Order: sequence, then C-alpha cells, then structure tokens
Amino acid sequence: MRNFDTLRTLVRGDIKEKEMMSKHTYYGIGGPADAYITPIDKEDLSMILRFAYNNSIPAYFIGSGSNLLISDDGINGLVLNPGKAFRHIKFNDSNLYAESGAMLGRIVRESIKRNLSGLESLIGVPGTLGGALVMNAGAFGGEISNYLKSVKIMNMKGEIKSYYPNDLNFAYRFSSFKENEFIISAEFTLKKEDPRIIHERKDIANLGRKTNQPLKFRSAGSVFKNPKKFAAGYLIDKVGLKGTKIGDAEISKHHANFFINNGRASSSDILGLIKLAKKKVKKEFNINLELEIKLIGFKEKIELCN
Ligand SMILES: Cc1cc2nc3c(=O)[nH]c(=O)nc-3n(C[C@H](O)[C@H](O)[C@H](O)COP(=O)(O)OP(=O)(O)OC[C@H]3O[C@@H](n4cnc5c(N)ncnc54)[C@H](O)[C@@H]3O)c2cc1C
Repeated sequence: MRNFDTLRTLVRGDIKEKEMMSKHTYYGIGGPADAYITPIDKEDLSMILRFAYNNSIPAYFIGSGSNLLISDDGINGLVLNPGKAFRHIKFNDSNLYAESGAMLGRIVRESIKRNLSGLESLIGVPGTLGGALVMNAGAFGGEISNYLKSVKIMNMKGEIKSYYPNDLNFAYRFSSFKENEFIISAEFTLKKEDPRIIHERKDIANLGRKTNQPLKFRSAGSVFKNPKKFAAGYLIDKVGLKGTKIGDAEISKHHANFFINNGRASSSDILGLIKLAKKKVKKEFNINLELEIKLIGFKEKIELCN
C-alpha cells in the first residue's frame, strides 16, 4: 500500500487514489490504479514524473483508453492522463499545433473546416492525439504520422525533448516512442485541398466504419494487427469463432477482430477470447496473431504479444 501524502503536497492537479480504471477505458474494464493523476500544467507533470522516477514507482500514460485492456487486478503504480491541461489546438495557415489530450475527432473536424487535408480518413477513430501517435493510428489509407512535423515529449526526469520525423520510426500500428516518454504536443504540416475531395475521403471513411464495425458495443477496436496476407478478422471468422462468448465477453458477429463487452465482462473474459483466437489461428493457419491493443497490469503480457 503506497502512501501519496508527499506527492499531494507537491502536485497541484487532481490525484485520485484507488481509482477504478473501468471508468477510463472504452471496454469499461479495469481494476484500481494506485493513483490516477491529471496534471495541471507542464511544471506539475514534471513534478509527478520526477516523483515517480525518484521513488521507483511505475508510471503509465493513458489517453481515452480506446485501445487498452487493463487487468481487473488494477495497476500497481501511477496513471497519468493529459486531462484538460493539454487539450489546446491551434492553426497557422497549413500548420497545426495540437496537445496530446486533444481528441482526434476534434482535430480532424477543425482541419476539415479549414480545407486542410491529411487527417480526414481518420474521422471516427476514437481517442486522443497522444494515443493516436503512440499507436500510429490509421484508417482508410491514412496514418497520423503521415503529416507529422515534430513531437514534444517529457521524460521521467521532467526534461522536454523535441523529435522530428527522422528521429522516429512509424509502421502499421507501431511507433518508436519509449514507454516512459509522455507525449505533450505535436505539430503537423497539412495540405490545402479542394473541400469536395476532402469531404469525399471523409465520407468514405465514415461509411466504411459504420458498415464494418460494431459501434454500438463497448470494444477497443481491432484486437489484433492484421497479418501480412489476411485480415485478422477473416482468420478468426474462418476458425469458427465469430460469436464465441466467455462470460460477458464476445467475439463480435459483425467483425471478428472486435471483441465486445456485453456489460459485465472482466479482463480475464477478454483475455480468454484472445488466447482462444491466437491458439486456433496458430493451429489452423500457422499464423501468430499479434496484439494491437495494449495490455496494462497483466503478468503474462509478454507471451501474449507475440
Ligand atoms: C470503435 C473503435 C474503433 C477504432 N478504430 C480504429 C481505427 O480505425 N484505426 C486505429 O488505428 N485505431 C482504431 N481504434 C483504436 C484506438 O481508438 C486508437 O488506437 C487510438 O488512437 C487510441 O487513442 P487513446 O487516446 O484512446 O489511447 P489509449 O488507448 O489511452 O492508449 C493507447 C497507447 O497510447 C499510450 N498513450 C496515450 N496517451 C499518451 C501520452 N500522452 N503520452 C504517451 N503515451 C500515451 C498509452 O500508454 C497506450 O500505450 C479504434 C477503437 C475503437 C474503440
């Protein structure tokens, strides 16, 4: 049992002890974190990170929790969310500056309003800019990293660093940010474009999403990355798992790579489906499904990711 009295004297932002992470994930799943903190500004953030570092307390960063499965056992450590302090966005001609806690949907809509192209295919991807950068979120041919100009992060010593595209690696649902780097903000160079073309791309993305995804249910989007030759959903469907349930968790009948929480699913229910899908796809297709969603608080995380 950790004591956060000292931290409370240092930090001006909100600290919630034993905060249920189910309140902060799209799955609605996740046990208590030792402390859930929303810093009030950069100085506050720096104080919290240094406190965690100096006291060897693990720190986890989360955005809106739309790509996370958090253990029912909760999180041993601090959870930091950019919160209201890091939601600012600003345009200067074709340049966009946005802070990590700004919702991607807002950024996309504001760019479209200004006839700026680059991010419109990401319409409908839930989450914050911070989460989108770490995941290199992408949809319908576009990826968040495509128009990136720079990113500012804070490390565990409270130091701010700038990264430029050449410093970073991005691939399909992959970025090279380190786990202990808190993303503060990013800049993008977008492109002026005919609004009809931008709207056309946005509409294609919107329609595709509404047609293919079970958007009425709690999920974390695609559970697995698509292997090279086949879509993960196709493989899971082919091994006969569509509609399979464990407890209140279900492999969506609509899209087999979406695992949904029908109400009271636990993290072990979802994990059970993950293991089952991995095992069956490996056995029948000799393909290792790799997780796209991020797991926090599980001891067996390593084996599951490969
Ligand atoms: C219905 C649905 C549809 C989806 N469709 C798509 C899609 O089309 N394409 C796609 O790519 N994804 C999709 N997703 C997945 C998800 O929305 C994206 O990955 C999103 O970018 C995650 O953002 P988030 O803020 O929710 O991040 P979280 O889920 O909170 O976190 C994701 C990762 O980012 C890290 N992180 C978050 N914020 C920070 C920060 N400030 N600093 C450092 N690290 C941070 C976390 O530690 C974690 O590793 C979908 C999800 C749902 C539920």
